[in-house]
Amino acid sequence: MAILGRITVVGAFLADGRWQYHAAMTDLDRLLADIRACSHCAPQLPLGPRPVLIADARARLLIVGQAPGTRVHATGIPWNDPSGDRLRQWLDVDRDTFYDASRIAIVPMGFCYPGRGKSGDLPPRPECAPRWRAPLHALLPRIELTLLIGQYAQAWYLGRTMRPTLTETVADWARYGPDFLPLPHPSPRNQLWLRRNPWFEAEVVPELRRRVGPLLTR
Ligand code: SF4
Repeated sequence: MAILGRITVVGAFLADGRWQYHAAMTDLDRLLADIRACSHCAPQLPLGPRPVLIADARARLLIVGQAPGTRVHATGIPWNDPSGDRLRQWLDVDRDTFYDASRIAIVPMGFCYPGRGKSGDLPPRPECAPRWRAPLHALLPRIELTLLIGQYAQAWYLGRTMRPTLTETVADWARYGPDFLPLPHPSPRNQLWLRRNPWFEAEVVPELRRRVGPLLTR
């Protein structure tokens, strides 16, 4: 057995004398297993815990959204809905690339479906980010750009540098580079926002593609 960074390598000699090895669980594997077993705020979750996220230590792009909707909860696949279709169109990537964990980590502010309120899905559960984000970030060392989708992600990562409204924060995107790029939610319900703010697709989407493209090469 040998320790290589965070990976423990184990193996055994085969009958013909060759050494066969495989990588055992990494710290990230263990953390993801802990997250998938989490039931910390289960009493507040109408459909019960089902954390949905994708993380791999090789990823260079991190996507931070809000929390799963019912469709994502049902499938266990993040952004597997019309919002995801629009996000992939903004990024100019196909589904295979989008779901390639070695390239893109997808870690929302809340990992489980939080339920529905009067005007749509509830905010991400407030217990989730303080519990899991710091240890996750510590095990995602190659992230070069984080896409902050919606007000909850922007509040967490930008803090006091956030503008008074999401529109102003997104319009001021150049201020947050090179580490962060704030985006509106790509939900079809935001169609009106997109019509009212044509500068977003004219200016920010090309910038998004320019910065994301090089991060997706292996
Ligand atoms: S929302 Fe987060 S803290 Fe709550 S049960 Fe799911 S993983 Fe755990």
